[in-house]
Amino acid sequence: MNNDKQNRSPFKNPLVMFLIISVIATIILNAAMISLQSLQKEEISYNEFTTMIDEGKIDEVIINRDEIDIYAKPETEETKPTDITDILGGGSYDRHHRKIYYTGYIYDEKLLERLNNAQVKYSTPVQHENPILDFILTWILPLGIIYLLFFLLTRTMSKRMGGGGGIMGIGQSNAKMYNMENATGVTFNDVAGQDEAKESLDEIVDYLHNPSKYKAIGAKQPRGALLVGPPGTGKTLLAKAVAGEAKVPFFSLSGSEFVEMFVGVGASRVRDLFKQAAAKAPCIIFIDEIDAIGKSRDSQLSTNDEREQTLNQLLNEMDGFDSSKGLVVIAATNRPEILDKALLRPGRFDRRIIVEKPDLKGREDILKVHIKHVKTSPDINLHDMALATSGAAGADLANMVNEAALRAVRMGRKTVSQEDLMEAVEVIIAGKEKKDRILSEKEKKIVSFHEVGHALATAVQKHTQPVHKITIVPRTMGALGYTMQMPEEEEHYLMSKDEILDQITVLVAGRAAEELVFNTKTTGASNDIERATSLARNMITMYGMSDKFGMAGLESIQNKYLDGRSVSNCSEETKTAIDNEVIRVLKERYEKATEILKNNRDALDKIAECLINEETITGERFMEIFDEVKSARETKDKENEGGDDGEKNSEPK
Ligand code: ADP
Ligand code: MG
Ligand code: ZN
Repeated sequence: MNNDKQNRSPFKNPLVMFLIISVIATIILNAAMISLQSLQKEEISYNEFTTMIDEGKIDEVIINRDEIDIYAKPETEETKPTDITDILGGGSYDRHHRKIYYTGYIYDEKLLERLNNAQVKYSTPVQHENPILDFILTWILPLGIIYLLFFLLTRTMSKRMGGGGGIMGIGQSNAKMYNMENATGVTFNDVAGQDEAKESLDEIVDYLHNPSKYKAIGAKQPRGALLVGPPGTGKTLLAKAVAGEAKVPFFSLSGSEFVEMFVGVGASRVRDLFKQAAAKAPCIIFIDEIDAIGKSRDSQLSTNDEREQTLNQLLNEMDGFDSSKGLVVIAATNRPEILDKALLRPGRFDRRIIVEKPDLKGREDILKVHIKHVKTSPDINLHDMALATSGAAGADLANMVNEAALRAVRMGRKTVSQEDLMEAVEVIIAGKEKKDRILSEKEKKIVSFHEVGHALATAVQKHTQPVHKITIVPRTMGALGYTMQMPEEEEHYLMSKDEILDQITVLVAGRAAEELVFNTKTTGASNDIERATSLARNMITMYGMSDKFGMAGLESIQNKYLDGRSVSNCSEETKTAIDNEVIRVLKERYEKATEILKNNRDALDKIAECLINEETITGERFMEIFDEVKSARETKDKENEGGDDGEKNSEPK
């Protein structure tokens, strides 16, 4: 409670900061005004001034305390500047067309005598000694204006963020930075494919329903649960569902909103939030993206006072609140490894609930949840769609269903068909079809052979997923064509070394086909190369699958849930050796792919021809032609071999 008061230096107080800034601004403004005024006049030296008097060129002189303003005699009709030059001349004339000069004040006994002799009018401004008015004009007024501007600015800003409070509120933060929903309207039925997470959260729901049951036994409920998982898997949705199931208010706030420009604000927001929530208990506080404040404090790179104070305050509050009232804090993050250890210790976010990307069944269930909101034709098959979307998170699936509905509208249909759904999958994976990009005949040929190369490598090898579709219709995300593979049934969670090697072969087979048929190398293989290389590298550095390095873990992934970069854990020499090994594996696979294509050259030509004509062929059609060609080849072989085929059959079984 009081630790943030202790280390709040006056300079960190927003109000003091504001005052200092406005005073400086006022000084600069005044200085600018003065220099602007003197810019309009022309400076001359004192003896030039006296000469001018003697020559009778001067009309009037005003003697100020530190400066003498000199008004020359008006110019004659001819030399009198026209109005336009008057304006352009920068105001060095007054309204009687007298040119204005000025010079510094020097104590000169003879000046008055000289002026009298030359019959020059002279005067000195009456000093209206009114220091109060003066002070108000030069200080209070500009300060007031700046204050007003600032006030309006902060008002509109905090309004947009959904709270009241003005500048005075910054320090104490009466501004509400959180959302409060009395009923979220979301239940566990809206969350699919997260059964384990739901199970863990069920207990919290039960507790919120009936805290006294737990109290009677003396069981303490966890104060906080941490939802961990990749983006879009339904963490926010789950937290809302807990509140919905328990029928309690839901306070939500994003971690980044805590951290403000002014030190101390986040901390007071935390305090405020917990105070409000305690008044409404039982209820749920949800802190989204908690890594924004909960970052480990020992990172040497930068210290952030504000974040640390906010975190400290959060830790304090989590220890302080009376959990028997039924206040539960749920937080979500996709970077659990950077969280401060203090946040994770018992009594704080000690429950960690993993929200993973859904598996096949989970995806089907999620699709079922979202398909309810759209009108569908009876032919839809969500199982097929789930098969095609391995690796997609809940948010992606929701997006695909919506995309399918949009497509149905575009096509002028009343219901969503299976075709819409499958097209939506491809749109999310590969981008929209780009019908206006015309490939030249030659390019079309190359792309076709490239794709059929992938497909053949898939068909010939054992450890691969079957081809679902081959197309050479360009997509907006850059692919000129692609071969879609789809698992036959249940996806598997383990990948064997053979499968990885076969997959690499499939990836390099595109280029192998180009080179075999046209003897060229095109840029179309760049994505294949990238994926093949990273597979080969992971195989060696992370999965312990190379004979050379054995099980050594040579790299590790930094942000597991954000597809993070891998960091190297080995010496420079080993890195070089790894690179060499990766290159060796890729070369080997490329040779294998070339061999496969050479052995199936007849199928390659036939299918590519078909693809050039039809632009898209399905997996079944592909297998049909492939089998046709194969059996034709076999009968031909038999005819050629004639009598000596007995040799092969006579091999020992
Ligand atoms: P996160 O907070 O994990 O990034 P969200 O909870 O914000 O993800 O999910 C975004 C949207 O994706 C949800 O509003 C919902 O429509 C959909 N979604 C995600 N996961 C699921 C799921 N398991 N079941 C149903 N819908 C989901
Ligand atoms: Mg979220
Ligand atoms: Zn390719």
